[in-house]
Amino acid sequence: MAVLPILPASSPVVHQKSKRVRRIDGSIHRLLDDLVETMRAAGGVGLAAPQVGVLLRVIVIELSQGEIIELINPEIVKATGEREVEEGCLCLPGYVGRIKRSEVVKAKGVDRDSKPVRIKADELLAEALEHEIDHLNGILFVDHLESLDDLHKVEPKPVAAATE
Ligand SMILES: [Zn+2]
Repeated sequence: MAVLPILPASSPVVHQKSKRVRRIDGSIHRLLDDLVETMRAAGGVGLAAPQVGVLLRVIVIELSQGEIIELINPEIVKATGEREVEEGCLCLPGYVGRIKRSEVVKAKGVDRDSKPVRIKADELLAEALEHEIDHLNGILFVDHLESLDDLHKVEPKPVAAATE
């Protein structure tokens, strides 16, 4: 496993659409492992492959430690409701923005063993699914801002505290 560099929002790569994974082989397993390690090192709760320069439809999410969701070719099947959230992105450290996300999200995809996965989510998991699947379509949270006034600078989070 390896911690990979995360591309900044200024990179053209993170604004491109990712391709579907056709065959889940060892290289995809390694990509999943690297995504998890990179997400943890950066102190994030989710990471999508294009953020590390790999334009494939692969995401990982870990909201609480050890509960890793790995999704290959994920899709939002249904999204209902609307709410305002304050969101950030590892591609844009030091900024958060108020945007609208869905209340309830149903998503599907496959795991590393090609087994179908279906998830019904609300709260932070719904937001993370929408955020990471957006990345696969070249969309960053700032693309959802209604106004630049909704974007705020914050103190960057200290990266992966040594005690955690
Ligand atoms: Zn992001």
